[in-house]
Amino acid sequence: MKRYLFLLGLFFTLVSCTDSSSNPNVPPKEDPKPKSIHIALGEPKDSDSINDYVVLRPQYVFSYDHFTNTTNWVAWNLNASWYGDVDRYDGNFISDTSLPKDWTIIKHSDYTNSGYDRGHMVRSEERTKTIEDNKSTFYMTNILPQTPDLNRGVWYDFELFCEDLCKNQKKELFIVAGGVYHSNNTINGKLKIPDSCFKIVVVLESGQSLKDVNKNTTVYAVMMPNIDGVRKDTWDKYKTTVDAIESSTGYDFLNAISTEIQATIESKKW
Ligand code: MN
Ligand code: MN
Repeated sequence: MKRYLFLLGLFFTLVSCTDSSSNPNVPPKEDPKPKSIHIALGEPKDSDSINDYVVLRPQYVFSYDHFTNTTNWVAWNLNASWYGDVDRYDGNFISDTSLPKDWTIIKHSDYTNSGYDRGHMVRSEERTKTIEDNKSTFYMTNILPQTPDLNRGVWYDFELFCEDLCKNQKKELFIVAGGVYHSNNTINGKLKIPDSCFKIVVVLESGQSLKDVNKNTTVYAVMMPNIDGVRKDTWDKYKTTVDAIESSTGYDFLNAISTEIQATIESKKW
């Protein structure tokens, strides 16, 4: 009993100490916020963080593997407000000098004559509100080598589907995309070529976020082979589950969502 009274006393002491209303110099307490809106549903984690160098940009968040000079994943929020009328940036793709200086920095020319497109993860059109937003999508850390058939074909088909969700259906999307690397194919030994590319799209209503995700929330997940011959395919041919992408990549996605809800929405195919 004594112990309870002590704890109760401690509780009220703490409450009165943090009560901002009694002290005008203490700002009101706010809800805990994620480090960035782009990872509001969780920062993807695998068993080994040594090759996950996470960079937060106002426009997206990405994880970089400096041993293979490869972007592991890019995460971004998307809704109609990110689309604007800024012209597509027309310079060369940009070396990301925000990475530590002693790392190999991938350049525009590293892809030249490789046969692979510089495939955007965050699509250029998805960041057209300001010149700076659009330019940010041209950093080489937002780029993976994709075959022209993937980049301009079925991957693009899914990008258009997401654009429609935002612009015509006023949805709020939380997206993560990246590569699946099982073979060791590289461009000139300098950077890895993904065997396939994945994208996970959580679909919420305008303005919704983490607390609104429930067992009925729609989650599209695709894994598309990075090969020739997929240009005319439609995206739904490559529907899969988040669980399948998690086991292929080793990452736990959407990990800010309760494990119970994750179990349901990650095992379902929409
Ligand atoms: Mn593309
Ligand atoms: Mn998960």
